[in-house]
Amino acid sequence: MYDINALQELLREPKEVMITTHHKPDADALGSSLGLAGYLKKKGHRVTVVTPSDYPSFLNWMEGNDDVLVYSAKNDALVQRIINESQVIFCLDFNNLSRINEMGEYIRQAKGTKVLVDHHLQPEDFADLNFANTSAAATAEIVYDLIKDLGDGNLIDTGIGECLYAGIMTDTGSFRHPSTSKNVHLIIADLLHIGVKTSDIHRLIYDSSSELRLRFLGYALKDKLVVLREYNTAYIAITAEELKAYDSRTGDTEGLVNYALSIEGIVFAALIIDRSQAVKMSFRSVGDFSANEFARTNFNGGGHKNAAGGMSMDSLENTVAKFESLLPLYKDKLQHATVR
Ligand code: 5GP
Ligand code: MN
Repeated sequence: MYDINALQELLREPKEVMITTHHKPDADALGSSLGLAGYLKKKGHRVTVVTPSDYPSFLNWMEGNDDVLVYSAKNDALVQRIINESQVIFCLDFNNLSRINEMGEYIRQAKGTKVLVDHHLQPEDFADLNFANTSAAATAEIVYDLIKDLGDGNLIDTGIGECLYAGIMTDTGSFRHPSTSKNVHLIIADLLHIGVKTSDIHRLIYDSSSELRLRFLGYALKDKLVVLREYNTAYIAITAEELKAYDSRTGDTEGLVNYALSIEGIVFAALIIDRSQAVKMSFRSVGDFSANEFARTNFNGGGHKNAAGGMSMDSLENTVAKFESLLPLYKDKLQHATVR
């Protein structure tokens, strides 16, 4: 329930606040976290942003980035202490504690008030206050609306605005996904009004590839793309050796799955990567074919209707075989997916 009064009450006095977000944070995860952190600091709270893993270096420009604590086995005790001492714990851009690895159980048992702010489907019931809105385009959109609804829109400065802009821009696919509502455009108009340099942010995020990353993209599209016309499906599977050969860094494979989906007639795309500890999968779909349902049912995952992820503890080869073997079960849906 959207209980803004309860949030207002919770934040009335300065508090010890922790903000966390999902494993391998993307621009919405980190941008919504740092945007909210910037605002709460202005209100006098003591805020620590903790991420459960590292994240791409093309996000390092965000205001507050230098103070982010990245969880690792080495600082486990410190992170546990922060979690236990926090009076308020914000969980941003994820809705299931399994998405934050070891930190999930620590937070489940923490005494502080847990506040969920998220836009993914099927939220787990672990929070005390819930600002889940599955029709929001981005968690950053919800954060923006929350700050406004708390009566503090005037505190959104360019530093906070840039973080929120990055989240909304990336989660809407640069304002092209169906989630790009009137509210989204009105928020962007407001961010432009306060001086957010929108095209600079687009460039910082999308035009900062290394040469090897671009050559890897070329290799993946030329040699690794598999198109299964019968199922209107395309996928790319990448081995651990290939990642190594191209010196792949965190974030380097982001966006690759969208190329598979950009082929005419393709309604379902997958990127399957051997990450050594597990095989990680990204799913994208168009129209009414649910990537979320496919990920949940078959690969212990979830996400949004048209963008979801999952994983497998099996080998890459077996995971790809399982993926292909599932497609006949969805043949009818894949052949009749309404795109428009
Ligand atoms: P991506 O493919 O970009 O990693 O993720 C697409 C969407 O699915 C994101 O909204 C992400 O949060 C969600 N997602 C990715 N992997 C998983 C997963 O393993 N489990 C769940 N529940 N969601 C995931
Ligand atoms: Mn998001």
